[in-house]
Amino acid sequence: MGFKTGDFKTREEYYADLRAMRPNVFKNGRFISDLVTDPDTKGLIENEATTYDLLQDPRNDDVLKAKSTLSGDAVVRWHTLMTCPEDLMYNGRVKKLHFHKVGTCAAGTCTGWNCFNVLWSVTSEIDGQYGTDYHKRLENWLRDVEHKDYKIAGALTDAKGDRSKKASQQTSPDYSVHVSEIRGDGIVVNGAKVMIAHAAACHEIICIPGTAYREDEKEYVVAFAVPRDIEGLTLVQTDVAERKQGWDEIRYGDQSSYLLFENCFIPRERVFMCGEWSHSGTGIGRFTANYRAAIGSCMSGQGDVMIGAGVLMARANGLSANVFKEKFVDMALINDLVYGLGLGAMLAGEKHPSGVFYADPTLAHANKCYVAKFYAELRRLCQDIGGGIAETGCFPDYRDCTHPEMGPKIMKYVQANPAVSAETRARAARLTEWFARGGGTLAFVHGGGSPDGARMVVRANTPLEYYAQCAADIAGITEKVEDPAPAGKGK
Ligand SMILES: Cc1cc2nc3c(=O)[nH]c(=O)nc-3n(C[C@H](O)[C@H](O)[C@H](O)COP(=O)(O)OP(=O)(O)OC[C@H]3O[C@@H](n4cnc5c(N)ncnc54)[C@H](O)[C@@H]3O)c2cc1C
Repeated sequence: MGFKTGDFKTREEYYADLRAMRPNVFKNGRFISDLVTDPDTKGLIENEATTYDLLQDPRNDDVLKAKSTLSGDAVVRWHTLMTCPEDLMYNGRVKKLHFHKVGTCAAGTCTGWNCFNVLWSVTSEIDGQYGTDYHKRLENWLRDVEHKDYKIAGALTDAKGDRSKKASQQTSPDYSVHVSEIRGDGIVVNGAKVMIAHAAACHEIICIPGTAYREDEKEYVVAFAVPRDIEGLTLVQTDVAERKQGWDEIRYGDQSSYLLFENCFIPRERVFMCGEWSHSGTGIGRFTANYRAAIGSCMSGQGDVMIGAGVLMARANGLSANVFKEKFVDMALINDLVYGLGLGAMLAGEKHPSGVFYADPTLAHANKCYVAKFYAELRRLCQDIGGGIAETGCFPDYRDCTHPEMGPKIMKYVQANPAVSAETRARAARLTEWFARGGGTLAFVHGGGSPDGARMVVRANTPLEYYAQCAADIAGITEKVEDPAPAGKGK
C-alpha cells in the first residue's frame, strides 16, 4: 500500500508532545522541565526522535509502516498486531534499522508493542473464562493510539525486593506494582517497576504482570496503559556514563526509568487485567518468546555498527581493514547467529486463536542465552581492533584536546595515520569506547530477563528421554537404560 509521508508524526511534533506533558521525570535532584534540551535527557530524546525522521523517508516505508488489521489504515508498524511470522520479522527489522542509525536501543518502538500483542491473546482468554470486557477495552485503546504515532514503553519487570521471596512475602507490597483499591470507575495502583527502557521518552507506558502469580497474590496481577505523565506516577532516570562535550559526546542516549506509582488512579477503560492470577504466567511466557526472538536483531544491529567502528579505527590507526578480516568474520558470525536464530524462532512460532502470532519459546530462549553470552565477545573484538585508545579512556578529554595552547600538542599524538585526521580517530575511538563502557553498552545480559530463566525454558523443553530413545534405536540398543538410583537409595 502507498504511504503518505505527511500523515506521520515529525520530530518537531514529537518534541511538542513531550513539552506538553507534566514534568514528572526526575534526575540529578530536580524534575526536568524540557526533556528535549536538558543535558541529562537530550541524548535519549535524540535517539527516539530519530524514528520520526526515518518515518519521513519513503525508503523506510516497508519497515516502519504497515496496514492496521483493525482499521485498515496506514499506521506506524509498532502500533500493529503481529499476526504471522513475517510481522514478527518486521519487529526485528524495525530494531535493526534503528540500531543502524543510532547504534543503541529503540525501546520506544519495542516493549510496548510487544506488551499489547501479548495482552491481545491474554485478554481474549480471560474474557472467555470470566465474561469480562478487557479485550474490547484493549482494542479501543489500540484503535485510539494507532493514529497517534506514539512511543510506547513496556513495563513488566517488578522491582522485586528480596529475590528469595514472593511478592506477597516482601517487607512492603510496593516491591511490585499492585492494586490497592478497585472502584467502579477504575483502580488505584501503588508500587514500583524498575529499569524501564526509554520510558521518559514515551507517550504511554503499558504495564503487564512480570511473573506467574498465585491465587493469594491477586493484587499483583494487573495490566494497564497510562500516559507517561499521569498523576501519581514519577519517573526516576538511571545514570549512564556519558561524556558531554564535542566529539566526546555521542548524540544518542540510552536510559531507563524507575517507575514509582503512588496512589495512581487508572480509569476502567485502560485496565486490561485485574486479579486474574491464573493468566499471569501465560502473558510473561508470550512476552519473552517474542522479545527474545527479536533481541538478536538488536544485538546484531549494534554488532554491525561495531564492525563499522572497527573498520574506522583500523584505518585511522594506519592499517588496512583487511588486517582484521578474521576478527570481522568472527563478529559477523555472532551477529548472524543471534539474528538468524531469532528469525528461526519467529518462523517456528504459532498463531493464537485471537489472531496474533507468537515466536517459538524454546528457540527464542536459546537466542537469549547466546545474546547474553556473546555480547561481551563482540565488544572484546571491537576493542581489540581499535587499540587502547578505544578501550580504557586512554586519551584526553575534548576540552583538553581543543585547548588553545595544549590542544595542538595533544592532537599531534591522537593522530596516527597522516591521511586520517586526529578528530576522526578521536570520534571513532569514543564510539568504540561508548560501546564498551559508555551509554552504548547495552543490557544484553539482563534486558528482557535473566539468561538463567531462558536456560530453564530450554532445559524444560529438551526431551532427553526421546533423544535417548532415538540414539538407542540407531545404535541397536534394546535394553532399558535408566539413571542410576540416587545415592543411598540403591540396593
Ligand atoms: C538496561 C535495562 C533495560 C531494561 N528495560 C526494561 C523494560 O523496558 N521493561 C521491563 O519490564 N524491564 C526492563 N528491564 C528489566 C529486566 O527485565 C530485568 O533486569 C531482568 O528481568 C532481570 O531482573 P533483575 O535485574 O532484577 O535481576 P535479578 O532477578 O536480581 O537476577 C540477578 C541474578 O540472580 C538470579 N536470581 C534471581 N532470583 C533468583 C532466585 N529466586 N533464585 C535463584 N537465582 C535467582 C538471576 O537468574 C540472575 O542470575 C531492563 C533491564 C535493563 C538492565
